[in-house]
Amino acid sequence: MNLSKKAENIQPSLTLEITAKAKAMKQNGIDVIGFGAGEPDFNTPKNIQDAAIRAIQSGHTKYTAASGIIELKRAIVNKFKKDNNISYNENQIIISTGGKQCLANAFMAILNEGDEVIVSTPYWVSYPELIRLSGGKPIEIITKEENNFKYDINELEKIITNKTKAIVINTPNNPTGTVYSRDELIKIAEFCKKHDLLIISDEMYENLIYDNVNHISIASLSKDAYERTITLGGVSKSYAMTGWRIGYAAANETIIKYMSNIQSHTTSNPNTIAQYAALEALSGSQDDMKHMIKEFHKRRDYMVDKINSINNISCLKPQGAFYVMLNISKLLDKKIDGEIIENSMNFSKKLLDKKNVAVIPGEAFGVKNFVRLSYATSMENIINGLNRIEKFIGDDIK
Ligand code: PLP
Repeated sequence: MNLSKKAENIQPSLTLEITAKAKAMKQNGIDVIGFGAGEPDFNTPKNIQDAAIRAIQSGHTKYTAASGIIELKRAIVNKFKKDNNISYNENQIIISTGGKQCLANAFMAILNEGDEVIVSTPYWVSYPELIRLSGGKPIEIITKEENNFKYDINELEKIITNKTKAIVINTPNNPTGTVYSRDELIKIAEFCKKHDLLIISDEMYENLIYDNVNHISIASLSKDAYERTITLGGVSKSYAMTGWRIGYAAANETIIKYMSNIQSHTTSNPNTIAQYAALEALSGSQDDMKHMIKEFHKRRDYMVDKINSINNISCLKPQGAFYVMLNISKLLDKKIDGEIIENSMNFSKKLLDKKNVAVIPGEAFGVKNFVRLSYATSMENIINGLNRIEKFIGDDIK
C-alpha cells in the first residue's frame, strides 16, 4: 500500500525499547531503578490543582479561542516582561497542547520543502522529526563536551547554505543541561542577523537553573533578535505539569497568526481546564517551584560528584534542566560477558539486564558515547542507582 513517505521516514523513539523493557521488569516485581524520567517526580502544586477544580465547577469546560484564553495570554505577556525582559502583546502569544505542539506549529508555519534548520547534537529527540514532518531538513552540528555542548560559531559558518532558514537554540538544554551565557547568545544572534535566519528559542527549562546562573532569552538581546525569534516556553517542567499539556510561544504577529491558524484546524484550543491551571501556575505562588529547584540542585550535586568519583566514566556539571550526560567513551570497545560494548545502546541494555538500572542511550540524542541520566527521581534512587552503576563498571566490564 502506498502510504505517506513523510510518515514512513519518521523514526520511532529509540528510548522506547529500553523504557518498555524496564516497565515490564517493574511489573514483574523486579526492583528497577529508572534514570529515564523526562519529567519532575513532584506532584502538581496544590494551588494549581485547586484552580483546575474551580475551573471545572465554574463552567470553564467549553471550547476557548483556538489560540488560548486572553487571561492566560496576559499572564504570559507579564511573565515575559518580568522574567525575560521581552515585550510582547497578547496578539503575539499562542497557547498550545504542550511545548511540543508549539514547536510543531512553529516549524509548519515557517518551513517550505527543503528548508534547512540547524540543530545542535546531542539534540532533544523530537526536533529532527518535527522538522522533517514540516518538509524541512535538520542540519546537525555536533557539539563537543569540552565546549560544554555549545554551538561553535566557526562550525556554524561552515554549514550555511542558501537553504538555511532557521536555528534551534535550547537553553537550558535537554539532554545536556547546558545553559548559554549572554555573550554566547549575542554572538549567535549576530550570526543569525548576518545570515538572515529565524531563531527557535526553546526555553522550556528556563526556571530549572542552578549556581545563581541567569537564564537569558535571546529575543531580549536586540530589536533584530526579537524580530527573528520564536520564543517557546511552558508549564510542564517548571510546575510539574507534564500531563496537563500546556505550552506557549511568542513571536511576531504574522508567525503567531499562522501558528494559530494551523492549530485551529488540528486541535483547536488546548484543554480549557488546563489553561486555567496554567494561569494559576504563572500568576500564583511560586513557592513549590522554588522548593523543587532546591531539591534538583542537591540531587545534581550528589550525582555529578558520585559519577566523577567512579573510574572510567565522567560528566560535566550541568547548570540547568534535570539531566546529566554520562560520558562512557572509555568503556567502548571493552567487553561484558565476552561481548564488545560498541555503543551506548549496548551499554544501556546490559546495565538493565545485569543491574536493573534504566538509562537513556545517547543514540536517542544522536550520540553513541554518552547516556542520559535524569535526576528527577528520589535521592534514595539516585544513591542506589549510582552504586549499582559503580558495581557494573567495576565488576561486569572487562
Ligand atoms: N522542549 C524540550 C527541550 C523538552 O525536553 C520538552 C519535553 O520533554 C519539550 C520541549 C516539550 O514539552 P511539553 O511536555 O510541554 O510538550
